Amino acid sequence: NDLWTCDTLDKARSFLSSCSGPVSLHNFVGGKYIAPHGSSAKSSQLNSFEPKTGRLIYTLPCTQPDAVEEAINNAKSAFPSWSRTTRAERSATLRRVSELLQQNRELFAVWESTDQGKTLERARVEVDRAVSNFSYFSTFILHEQTAARMIDGVALTYEHRSPAGVFALISPWNMPLYLLTWKIAPCLAFGCTAVAKPSEVTSMTAFLLGGIFQKAGVPPGVINIIFGDGATTGAALVASPLINGVSFTGGTQTGIAIRRLAAHQIGKHLSLELGGKNPTLVFADSMEPSVRERTIRVAAMAAFENQGEICLCGSRIYVEKSAYSDFVREFTAYVKEKYIVGQTVGAVASIQHYDKIRRYLELAVEQKATFHLGSAPPTLHEDGTQGYWIEPTILTDVAKDSAIQIDEIFGAVVTITPFDNEEEGIQLANDSEYGLAAILLTTDGARMRRVGEQLEAGLVWVNCWLVRELGTPFGGMKNSGTGREGGEHSRDVFTVVRTLHLPAY
Ligand code: NAD
Repeated sequence: NDLWTCDTLDKARSFLSSCSGPVSLHNFVGGKYIAPHGSSAKSSQLNSFEPKTGRLIYTLPCTQPDAVEEAINNAKSAFPSWSRTTRAERSATLRRVSELLQQNRELFAVWESTDQGKTLERARVEVDRAVSNFSYFSTFILHEQTAARMIDGVALTYEHRSPAGVFALISPWNMPLYLLTWKIAPCLAFGCTAVAKPSEVTSMTAFLLGGIFQKAGVPPGVINIIFGDGATTGAALVASPLINGVSFTGGTQTGIAIRRLAAHQIGKHLSLELGGKNPTLVFADSMEPSVRERTIRVAAMAAFENQGEICLCGSRIYVEKSAYSDFVREFTAYVKEKYIVGQTVGAVASIQHYDKIRRYLELAVEQKATFHLGSAPPTLHEDGTQGYWIEPTILTDVAKDSAIQIDEIFGAVVTITPFDNEEEGIQLANDSEYGLAAILLTTDGARMRRVGEQLEAGLVWVNCWLVRELGTPFGGMKNSGTGREGGEHSRDVFTVVRTLHLPAY
């Protein structure tokens, strides 16, 4: 309960220091927080560390299959009644959740920043987005319509949609509340029930969310939140035959594993939002004096926002040759000035991820890449005992086939490579197993469309980044995922459709 009093970073810090040990998180099942029981009580707990200090701050249960099943059964029992509520009732519930989250904005931002390592400012942006997730779908369902048509005067046909059932909602650690609520809000709105599992690395705001659902009057069992790792808890959840659909955001390898686990149920809805290694394509015209500042700013934001821990970050920058050296120089100077570790750049989410990024930096040294910013090993607190800090790193002279260019590092590490002409720029941008996002920087209107329409990415941003309306389709091509979420696309995920034919005789 004391967690709820911490609406500043200082209060959270002094609360954590006053605790005799780590805080212990409990699952939220059937509308109540429940202590681990059954085999979950005997199994080992998982630890979660504060990225900015490296200290243990909380433990969470590694929920075992029997307790996963119990949570699914709660969601299943709640389904008949929740799926029959009116749109107006569901809309009002979502509105209350959104208002309560808004009222607790600072509290959620403080814990998100403490738990994930991101800056408080960035955490606030994400809480605002979580608020919007609920308010958006609260309004959306009031206005949604389905198609009806008359076929040659012979039959009237119409689409009838109904809630698809019980869902597994599984999210990663980079934007914990924002991404989990991006699943919970449409799930509730379209009349489904769920068992949600946040990442074991960042479970704190999901834990607090249970309290919001209680206060908002979400009926018990409609949304259950359980904690645990992927191999035990996540896999048991996905594989359960009682689960009718999975909305998953995370890594591509996990997406593949989830597809396998769900393969025996053809009708199981799968929405998979996976990894990316996104290109930023900079044309020389975008370095003209009138737009230069914007070009550098957008490329830097796309590269380093949230320490590069956003699936949509542009980590492969390609610059037209005639503007290459100017871009490298000015981009480096801008990042050095604006992206300051501990101020505008937060800590890396976990020691495992910190080690992963360090390995890529060591590889860059081995492969004799040029460091324009950053170093290997990182100069800051090398062993992680003072927190997991990595400065923004800008590399050039990285070979096309280097793992640094191919793998999703998911950290503040970018490469810059020159290209000769438009055709080569497109070819380099598309040379990836991933196809999530692309950023195109040019002032040429015809090129915006010509190039934009050839980029193999589910989302293309021209002279901007991360701008989004929640009704637009969100998702990736190639190994970045399948299915789209947002507005009516989320409706496709969370409903089943039957077409009714009513003859005119
Ligand atoms: P991850 O795939 O390791 O874990 C994501 C979630 O899946 C966690 O909750 C984890 O416990 C669970 N999980 C792991 N194995 C599982 C299994 N076998 N069955 C069921 N659940 C399992 O990803 P991560 O490291 O937490 O997050 C980083 C990845 O997420 C990056 O690849 C990033 O690009 C991606 N991501 C994608 C988007 C998007 O919208 N496309 C958004 C954010 C992050």
